[in-house]
Amino acid sequence: MQQSLFISDLHLSEDTPQIERGLAAFLKQEGDIDRIFLMGDIFEAWIGDDDDSPLAQHFADTMKRVADTGTQIYFTRGNRDFLVGQNYLDQFDAKLLGDYACVEVAGESTLLMHGDLLCSDDADYLAFRAIAHDPNWQAEMLNKSLEERRSLAKHLRAMSKEAASNKAEDIMDVNDDTVRSVIAKYGVRRLIHGHTHRPRRHPLQNAERIVLGDWNKTGWYLREREELLELCEFAL
Ligand code: MN
Repeated sequence: MQQSLFISDLHLSEDTPQIERGLAAFLKQEGDIDRIFLMGDIFEAWIGDDDDSPLAQHFADTMKRVADTGTQIYFTRGNRDFLVGQNYLDQFDAKLLGDYACVEVAGESTLLMHGDLLCSDDADYLAFRAIAHDPNWQAEMLNKSLEERRSLAKHLRAMSKEAASNKAEDIMDVNDDTVRSVIAKYGVRRLIHGHTHRPRRHPLQNAERIVLGDWNKTGWYLREREELLELCEFAL
């Protein structure tokens, strides 16, 4: 019997030690898990795998302890932590998933996404995303010193107050046509994503869309156990 956990949108930063602690306690209490899917925006920002901040190191240490119990960890990049690379993930033996990943979940081929690509009405964001995902832009960014990148990230967040907000009402919701089209394209009957901070299970025609929740005062997870899926909230 396979047990998996799906979490996203922890938005870890130096300002969220309580979420870090909550995650460590949650994972300890969960114990025997076969797979953990980290589905994007685990970090509020990511300036490169060479980041030597205590936060990056603590998180890797926490996840390495989990990996050492035999849990396979998977990582999907979010719109905040899109620069996370395999070098960092190697610290806890995690596998990097692409923007669209089909995996078997509860007896059904399931599409996993962070969710930002489903919010196709947000033209400004998609234009930024296209630039930020250009290998040349990324190489140029990662070539800067850590100090430079830290101040750039801070500046970017200060510049756009709205983009820096993690409230659901400030995040555009998914476009239903885009949801239908990715489900059809990948031939799945289940889609799991985060990003919108609107945790819920949506029955669709012949399919289901499950939205993970963000972590703040409470945490959210989706659990696969005995072919059953359960979306749960708990106090942090
Ligand atoms: Mn996001």
